[in-house]
Amino acid sequence: MRDKQLLLTLILGFHTGGESLSYRQALFLISALFLFVAEVSFAQLDDATRQLSHDIFKELIEINTTDSVGNVTTAAEAMAKRLRDAGFPESDVQVLGPNDRKKNMVARLHGTGKHKPVLLIGHLDVVEARREDWTTDPFQFAEKDGFFYGRGTQDMKDGDAMMVTALIRMKKEGYKPDRGIILALTADEEGGKSNGVDWLLKNHRELIDAEFVLNADGGGITANHGKPEMMEVDATEKQYADYQLTVTNPGGHSSLPVPDNAIYHLADALGRLERYEFPVDLNEVTRAFYARMVEVSTGQRAEDMKAVLKSPPDPAAVERLSKDPIDHSKLRTTCVATRLEAGHANNALPQMARAIVNCRIVPGHSPDEIQQKLAEILADPKITVKYIGAIGEVTDHPAARLAYAPPSLRPDVFQPLERVVKEMWPGTPVIPTMATGASDGVYTNAAGMPTYGISGASIDRGDFRLHGKDERLGVESFYRGVEFYYRYLRAVTE
Ligand SMILES: [Zn+2]
Repeated sequence: MRDKQLLLTLILGFHTGGESLSYRQALFLISALFLFVAEVSFAQLDDATRQLSHDIFKELIEINTTDSVGNVTTAAEAMAKRLRDAGFPESDVQVLGPNDRKKNMVARLHGTGKHKPVLLIGHLDVVEARREDWTTDPFQFAEKDGFFYGRGTQDMKDGDAMMVTALIRMKKEGYKPDRGIILALTADEEGGKSNGVDWLLKNHRELIDAEFVLNADGGGITANHGKPEMMEVDATEKQYADYQLTVTNPGGHSSLPVPDNAIYHLADALGRLERYEFPVDLNEVTRAFYARMVEVSTGQRAEDMKAVLKSPPDPAAVERLSKDPIDHSKLRTTCVATRLEAGHANNALPQMARAIVNCRIVPGHSPDEIQQKLAEILADPKITVKYIGAIGEVTDHPAARLAYAPPSLRPDVFQPLERVVKEMWPGTPVIPTMATGASDGVYTNAAGMPTYGISGASIDRGDFRLHGKDERLGVESFYRGVEFYYRYLRAVTE
């Protein structure tokens, strides 16, 4: 708001001064006017759409979709009803899943068929929230001090509401995209045993098969005191894998120690893992990330980011950058010991020692390959290394979890994005990143559909409250996100 007043003052100042404008002044004036007009035109998100998106957001927040006592099916049905009421035929809206509480919604807006469809994914489930921890009721949609409060306002019922609103808007306009737009709102991203994306891929691939996937669960605008700094896009993500390390031993009386000791075997091997560093492994996304970050950084950090882009990367620069845990993880695969248990009595030699190692694998490598690498690093045949699956089952090897290809920055995803960001947040750079955590994109990527985390919500640094208490999203940030998703989907499919 203050910026707008400043612009007006400047514009009026130029006019009342009566002097002829220099070229630079004129150029400045034109760009200032352009910015001003862009803001004004955005503010015209029509009242009906504003109300519609508000009501959908409220409805979603007030349906409890936690794994413990919630019901994802209720939310899936509610969104299906909204789409049907807006004119989607019964045959294009389905609610389906493995059990009564964990059904997913899949809807389709038909395109001209010029290109293969785009799939939008969003999870409907939310992390647990206890009333006594919160200032407001987490399952009541509350608006105060310019924010919407409630569980899921950041993760990710905001994105669900934006996507549903965009589809309804397009349907009402009779819009015919050049590729079909499929929306899947799903269960159990945050936990639980019925992951909707996984289930749909395994049981109804034909319903969600697409050329690429947009996941509103990642990316978005990072702001600083309301001023947008960058639009991040999760253009790929690491793959999650847990391994179980076990050493067994006959044991014996602790008064008669022998060199062959289960705890020492494991401890020595974990020491080797601690000292091992996976090699730098950049892909198109992480390269683009550092190339863009060089432009917005200064000093040694900028120099180091430039130097890791050389091939081979400069080792001193790699070492300095790796002191930052985020850069350390973006540069390579990581494996770290996260749990430990051993022994059965204070006065007995241990019969068993066990550790869990958690790995985050860069695209292009499979959990199977990393399991073999792990055994090599641990370098002790007494240690058996097993894989722990998604629901905690221990197996000798990962079941069919393949490596997915290093991603590419598809122009049909990024060019429209650059365009819309320029319209809505002029001057804000688009930064592709590799998420070090994991989302449902892991399933779609593994299924051969490149997946991009793109969100229109803007959240201040320091106000990331997802999974936390008093989760909230700025009111205007939400409406701007509603407009963004609509404009971006149009831009991707025109
Ligand atoms: Zn999420």
